[in-house]
Amino acid sequence: MNATIADRAQAAYLGLAIGDALGATVEFMTPGEIRHKYRVHRDIRGGGWLRLKPGQVTDDTTMSLALGRAILTQGGRVEALACAQAFEAWMRAKPVDIGNTVRRNLVTFRHSGNPVAPPSEHDAGNGAVMRILPVALATIGEPVERVSTAIRAQAHVTHHNVLSDGACDTLVAMLHAVLEKIGAGGTAQDLRHFATVLVARHAEYTFDGKLRDNPSGYVVETMQAVFQAFFATTNFEDCLIDVVNRGGDADTTGAIAGMLAGAFYGLDAIPRRWRRALDPNVRDACLVQAQALLAIRS
Ligand SMILES: [Mg+2]
Repeated sequence: MNATIADRAQAAYLGLAIGDALGATVEFMTPGEIRHKYRVHRDIRGGGWLRLKPGQVTDDTTMSLALGRAILTQGGRVEALACAQAFEAWMRAKPVDIGNTVRRNLVTFRHSGNPVAPPSEHDAGNGAVMRILPVALATIGEPVERVSTAIRAQAHVTHHNVLSDGACDTLVAMLHAVLEKIGAGGTAQDLRHFATVLVARHAEYTFDGKLRDNPSGYVVETMQAVFQAFFATTNFEDCLIDVVNRGGDADTTGAIAGMLAGAFYGLDAIPRRWRRALDPNVRDACLVQAQALLAIRS
């Protein structure tokens, strides 16, 4: 296995959990409220509306880990039914947080047994893209059609929506580019064309304009904040601090920016204070699963 890929895969998973834990403290706050309380929010300290312990993560990370386990159980394949069963078991275990669209479509699955939610223009939330990392890791090097099928198999369990699909496709393409091709020496701008392609397909995603503060759970606003933060900064720490201080759905913008910036900048770029602050069980689970997902694909 390529050591560089392994390092970046682990950094992506750790980045996801760190962004989630960091952002959860300021979820649903406005940038002004965050400034008033913390000046700049830059430490993993728990609290927030979920009253988290310092280092505790939310649904973004725990759904990703549940999805990754389902993929590993299926020998590396992303099967819709296995994903739905894993998410349903995750929901039954009473997670600290759960999105409305996720809950509604998992309750429907519980009764119907059909792991594909009906297409809905209202299901354009960020719940499918926030947990996409295990699919990206399990499909490195696979043909585009198979990657696309895998992305939809997990996403459509809860979010059957073209805007959500567009975000998932784009983020996976960016992660694959970083993990496979763009080694040390590249800049964040090398990934800009992926976001530009998304904007060309769905003009809603236009992000080079007004600062996207207070991003909601609408996947378009979430990705606008992530793109702006990622392209405006040159290291992992600045990227995450930028995105979570925008407030709004800060645990999820933190999680998505964290997986992208983690993959891009690598393990050494992740501040030690954040690695230490993260719940050690979560930290270990992320590191172990990243390795396992890489190993099973080959
Ligand atoms: Mg969350």
